Amino acid sequence: MGVIIVNHPLIQHKLTIIRDKNTSSKKFREVVGEITLLLTYEATRDLELKEVKIETPMAETIGKTLSLTSVVIAPILRAGLGMVNGMLNIFPLAKLAHIGLYRDENSLKPITYYFNIPNNLNDCIVIVVDPMLATAGSLSAAIDLIKKYNPKQIKAITLIASPEGKKRIEEKHPDVTVYTGALDERLNEKAYIIPGLGDAGDRLFGTI
Ligand code: URA
Repeated sequence: MGVIIVNHPLIQHKLTIIRDKNTSSKKFREVVGEITLLLTYEATRDLELKEVKIETPMAETIGKTLSLTSVVIAPILRAGLGMVNGMLNIFPLAKLAHIGLYRDENSLKPITYYFNIPNNLNDCIVIVVDPMLATAGSLSAAIDLIKKYNPKQIKAITLIASPEGKKRIEEKHPDVTVYTGALDERLNEKAYIIPGLGDAGDRLFGTI
């Protein structure tokens, strides 16, 4: 439980590409997808398996298959959308929840403007995705909303975390594991991560 920093060389290499302010939106989107895929691999290491009887062309055998009914990918809008395709590469049959939260510029508190989640999450794992774990306000609010639907498990994946966000999410949701590619130095006065990568949504969608 808590925030796990996935210190894999491929992730560190790819994070450097997206941190670089000269990286284009096209490249940024592509590499965000690749990092998400690598983090998803790590975040799903403990998924339960069940045995199934199958026939190979050579013999009958017992194989292993995921025992979950479904994985639900829950992007926090809008920047979380940039991580969806990376996850769908691993879980092409995943369902999607959409969580619309924005940060009030004055209070810096998250406001919910959209929330849509599949029915019956009893046997599902919900993986919340948001590139930046800054104050943890949005992630924490998203997890509060999802918990009302009683999924089997909730996890989260972010690309970069701040020490402040790590501390806050560990305090507010000690039962949720968050996988991230890097723990940066600090937040600035506008709650941006330093050194970070700037505004992830703007960089993904070319709105700078
Ligand atoms: N959201 C971003 O997109 N970037 C940050 O640094 C913090 C929050």
